[in-house]
Amino acid sequence: MQEQWINYGKQYLANTYNRFPIVITKGERCWIWDMDGRRYLDFLSGIAVCNLGHAQKDVVESLTAQAGKLFHISNLFYMEQQIKAAKILVEHSFGDKVFFCNSGAEANEAAIKLARRYSWKKYGADRYEIISMENSFHGRTLATLSATGQTKFQEGFSPLLSGFTYVPFNDMESLKKTVSNKTCAVILELIQAEGGVYLADKKYVRKLREFTKEKDILLILDEVQTGIGRTGKLFAYEHYDIEPDIMSLAKALGNGFPVGAIIGKDDVMQAFEPGTHASTFGGNPLASSAVIATLNTITDENILKNCINLGMYLYKGLQALKEKYPFIVEIRGIGLIWGIELSIDGDPVVKEFLQEGVIINCTKGNILRLVPPLIIKNEEIDIFLEIADRIFERQQKK
Ligand SMILES: *Cc1c(COP(=O)(O)O)cnc(C)c1O
Repeated sequence: MQEQWINYGKQYLANTYNRFPIVITKGERCWIWDMDGRRYLDFLSGIAVCNLGHAQKDVVESLTAQAGKLFHISNLFYMEQQIKAAKILVEHSFGDKVFFCNSGAEANEAAIKLARRYSWKKYGADRYEIISMENSFHGRTLATLSATGQTKFQEGFSPLLSGFTYVPFNDMESLKKTVSNKTCAVILELIQAEGGVYLADKKYVRKLREFTKEKDILLILDEVQTGIGRTGKLFAYEHYDIEPDIMSLAKALGNGFPVGAIIGKDDVMQAFEPGTHASTFGGNPLASSAVIATLNTITDENILKNCINLGMYLYKGLQALKEKYPFIVEIRGIGLIWGIELSIDGDPVVKEFLQEGVIINCTKGNILRLVPPLIIKNEEIDIFLEIADRIFERQQKK
């Protein structure tokens, strides 16, 4: 039965993903089930999306209640749910105003447009360049692909958008050298997640913030993956004692309901006026009801606390595995985003995890990425570590 559906999938779907050879039909907390009724421990959370776990009761209730009232009405109207969602985001962040869209790429696209428009209004037409980091990931639209500092994603899509330059991550000197009177913004991930879980250095981020502030260059933080509790704070910038000018969010913002947003300071957000930017679906009542329930649940302190505590618990277990297996090069992360860098190929390891009933993925060919739901329990991490130990032991013998 499952086999047949996989064949249909290959027949009817664009071949844009290397998919796991299973069809998932149900999820609950950090567990998912395939068509044949087999259960898997989910350490991927739909790619860092379902931070509260699957079928979270408040999100389900909020969405189903809203679905019976009003799906969509457009941004030509004020919407109670959207205003509530924006208010919660503003009250819990550095920002003053929110623009809603539908995905991470769209959020970064909005951030790029806003930065250019802000600079255009204040300084005129020639100040439009955006500096991004090598090894970064900002999305798949042409503008966000142009901002992405990895040539493998850009191959075959030239000409890319002009006005983007790349500098090495965590390197203040290179950034200073690259900034010119054409620079309007720097876009940064505090953790390069897609890029292999590399953390921005605290001193670097503080210096970068000071430097960009002096020059009125906007700092855009791409918190599409790090936002909404993933690092143990609601937003990753809270670990760094700085505030950005613009922050992009998506992935976990609706706990699986597609929604994105940018948040900005008032003076920056003023650059958007009626007619300058828009999104038909952006923040519609259904999406906003998911955002409200997600944020209300996550700002309950226990979830962030659990993320930090269980993150440390996972880290200790991973560190013990590193002592045991020499092909584990490094363990990097914070909260509940962890990368296990291997000196061997990661894809066969991911396949073994699947066979053992655990979902993880691999970036950069050799870095295993762990992003379990933030509501995970000790026992579940124990299950993961036990299986990882078994798999690594088999790898060792190969
Ligand atoms: C996933 C991701 C994006 C792209 O988000 P989509 O919703 O897939 O468009 C952008 N930036 C970062 C840091 C991401 O992790």
